[in-house]
Amino acid sequence: MTHLFYCSICYLLQFFRAWSGALQVSFYPQILQKTQKKGTMDPKNLLFSQPSLSRKGKLSNPVNNYESVTPEIYSCPDCGNEVELRSDERECSNCNAVINIINLRLGNERDNDSMRQEKNTESTLKELVQLSARLGASDAAVIFTNSISAEDDLANLCREPQCENYGLSASCPPHVSGPSAFRKLLNNYKHAIVIKIDVPSEILLSNQRSEIFRLLHGIVAAIEQSAVENGFSDSKAYAGGSCKKLFCHNHADCRVLAREGECRNPGLARPSMSGFGINVSKLMKAAGMSYGMITHELEETKISMGTVCGLVLIG
Ligand code: SF4
Repeated sequence: MTHLFYCSICYLLQFFRAWSGALQVSFYPQILQKTQKKGTMDPKNLLFSQPSLSRKGKLSNPVNNYESVTPEIYSCPDCGNEVELRSDERECSNCNAVINIINLRLGNERDNDSMRQEKNTESTLKELVQLSARLGASDAAVIFTNSISAEDDLANLCREPQCENYGLSASCPPHVSGPSAFRKLLNNYKHAIVIKIDVPSEILLSNQRSEIFRLLHGIVAAIEQSAVENGFSDSKAYAGGSCKKLFCHNHADCRVLAREGECRNPGLARPSMSGFGINVSKLMKAAGMSYGMITHELEETKISMGTVCGLVLIG
């Protein structure tokens, strides 16, 4: 009796399993449809293209039809319209320009690079100006190189009337490239640092003036060196006065001109601005600095403070 009872329960269970299986099969298309709709309706989730039947009649794998995770918004480079980019290329809905996401990203990287470079230049220039003050300059300022004027007439004054130092060193005419080469050189530079040292005129008119000019050479050479160490490897410094008189007065000849080797004072001696015709009063004006020019013809009493100045091209 018990055996018969268990047999009838098993039979009922089997019948119910078969009936529910048939139910699953007949309802499967509706369940599938609902799943497909869910997958394509929610834009916040991964966006799949519409699952579709392949030629073989199988559902294609939605993962292979992946289009994009999150749309990225870019400005159209042609019209500025905001465009959502989900794939590598898309047309702008406003002007129909084809927007390439890779080019846009490269463009952004280039913009960031140039911004970083500008910031780096700005902070280095600031540090160089501060360094000038620490080394003994009365004032220092950054100028754009297009405000530097190199004039033939001024350079000719080294030769006529002839300066006592004319031709004595490798840093003075006729051994330097002169104004026209300097004007060309300026095209390679954007910024320069102008420095000045204010000196009581009686010192500039005395034998002590050599000390001041040695200081000037030392300051501009140190700024040039610091600029080079900060990545501005083509930086060039210019000072005033003859390096032969200032640094090699105990030697018969300039070592470079005598072809005996390199300059004896590479860390100090720099070419004189005069040999390139650099207009010092314009330079001072561009830097917003006052300038007292002292010559031996002037009486000491007329100008109490004189100025010596130097220039460093930063690049
Ligand atoms: S060797 Fe002397 S004179 Fe010649 S460039 Fe150097 S510092 Fe000037």
